[in-house]
Amino acid sequence: MDDFDSMISEMVSEVRCTKTPRKRVAHLDYVLREHIADTWGNRLDKYIDGWKFYVVDQTRGWCKYKNKYITIPVWVLRKGRDFGIYYIAHEIAHIISGHGAKHGHKFMRAFRTICPEHLQHYETEYKPAHAAAAGIASKASEDALTAFMD
Ligand SMILES: [Zn+2]
Repeated sequence: MDDFDSMISEMVSEVRCTKTPRKRVAHLDYVLREHIADTWGNRLDKYIDGWKFYVVDQTRGWCKYKNKYITIPVWVLRKGRDFGIYYIAHEIAHIISGHGAKHGHKFMRAFRTICPEHLQHYETEYKPAHAAAAGIASKASEDALTAFMD
C-alpha cells in the first residue's frame, strides 16, 4: 500500500463513523490538499485558495460556489487513486469554469486542461454527451486505437 492508498483508507474509516468532528474534517481537507499538491504541484493554488474539501458519505460530489466547498464522496476514493484524481480534477474544473458553466464547453476546457490525459476517459462514463462533444474518447475506443497502432 502506498501513501495515497493508506491516506484513502484512513479517510474511508473516518467518514464511516459519520459524525466527523470538526478537527478531523479539517484534517481530511489537509490530506486531500496534500494529494492535490502531489499531482499538480502548486499550479492549482490560485483556483482552490479559500476553498475547502470535504470527504462525505453521499452519492454525489458537489461544488458549492457560495460557501466555497467541494465534496468528494467516499465511494470515489474507494475506487482508487486514478479515479480519485479524475474526480478531484472534475470538481476543480467546476471551480475554474464558474457556476454558470455547468458541464458545458467552458467546463470541459478547464477539465481537459487540468485532468491528466490518461484519466480523462472516466468523464465519458459520467457525462458521455458532454465528454464526446469535447472530443474525449472512451476507454474502449482508446484501447481499440492503441491495439490498431501496436
Ligand atoms: Zn460536475
